[in-house]
Amino acid sequence: MKITAIRAHVLEAPIDQPFAFSQAWVDKRVGLVVEVETDAGVTGWGDGYGPPWALAAVIERSYAPRLIGRSPLAGDALWEELYNALRDHGQRGIAIQALSALDIALWDLRGKHFGAPVHALMGGPIRSEVRAYATGLYRRSDDRTKNHKLLTAEAEGYLAAGFTAMKTKVGFGYDDDIALVTMLRETIGPDVALFVDANHGCDRVQAHRLARAMEPLDIGWFEEPVAPEDIVGYAELRAATTIPIAGGECSFTRHDFHRILEAGAMDILQPDTASCGGLTEAKRIADLAWTHGVRYQPHVWGTGIGLAAAMQLLAVLPTTTPAFGAHQPLLEYDSTPHPFRQDLLVEPIVVADGVATVPQGPGLGIEVRRDVLERWRVN
Ligand code: CA
Repeated sequence: MKITAIRAHVLEAPIDQPFAFSQAWVDKRVGLVVEVETDAGVTGWGDGYGPPWALAAVIERSYAPRLIGRSPLAGDALWEELYNALRDHGQRGIAIQALSALDIALWDLRGKHFGAPVHALMGGPIRSEVRAYATGLYRRSDDRTKNHKLLTAEAEGYLAAGFTAMKTKVGFGYDDDIALVTMLRETIGPDVALFVDANHGCDRVQAHRLARAMEPLDIGWFEEPVAPEDIVGYAELRAATTIPIAGGECSFTRHDFHRILEAGAMDILQPDTASCGGLTEAKRIADLAWTHGVRYQPHVWGTGIGLAAAMQLLAVLPTTTPAFGAHQPLLEYDSTPHPFRQDLLVEPIVVADGVATVPQGPGLGIEVRRDVLERWRVN
């Protein structure tokens, strides 16, 4: 089997109801889907988390010429070759995100070639069902009363759908953040897990003040409190608060996560499979986290293809410490508006009663709807 063609599809779709996190309002959803064709009539699909036009350029100009004519089966060898090709200029960021998309597509191809799901080729499954948490509860109005009303209804919707955990956004200023998180805790009651995410919207002083004030609200984790470069800031906050500290969606490869772990900076690592270096690198980071006794909670924010990749990884993430009451990783289930996230899949990955099932078909275990791909493709 040889690779014959690689296409990077840039997707864009407007949304009716914009929402905000600490950095920006979101009024359209974008995606980068990579398609790897072979002479065996088998196609592999991948998802890249990052600026799609930039990822497409790196994939098509820098990586694709190295892969055409090669066998997709030599996973680690191809990963090292692509990483080394841009090593001098791209040890993190866009170069690694583009590599991630291709790595996921190559895993999909290998699974289809061997007739096995990716998680079986990666040594699993350790688990075939994963409890999901709803990612949502973004700011939807600058009017606090209106925003709280909308988010109360949204949180109640997640409860009604069977979710037992959910995540909201902070980083809008101390008063706003405390009012929102207090309101949400009252809405969902004491038995549902609540996580908060600042998207690195706090400096150290703000993060410490917010963490101290949130401690009585039983917060499951405080995600991206400070800038991703500020590893010392992470470590200091972790030492100062009882709330577990999470982060990692803006970090890349074993090298970044090695530094984070050596610094004791996080309780929970959150690499994005479609950004940190693909499934190959995500598994290596997971093993590194395990050796440090640190939890791994994959960040998920992409198309259904990225969601499928995350499910394959979740099936093989090592249990931090096996026991009757062992902690199990959760699926981040993006519940914000997205016109093509699940529409891209012939069979969407659904959460029922708060639980998602790992796809069992060959490769990523999904089929892509080409009509939906074409509808939103802009390149
Ligand atoms: Ca996040």
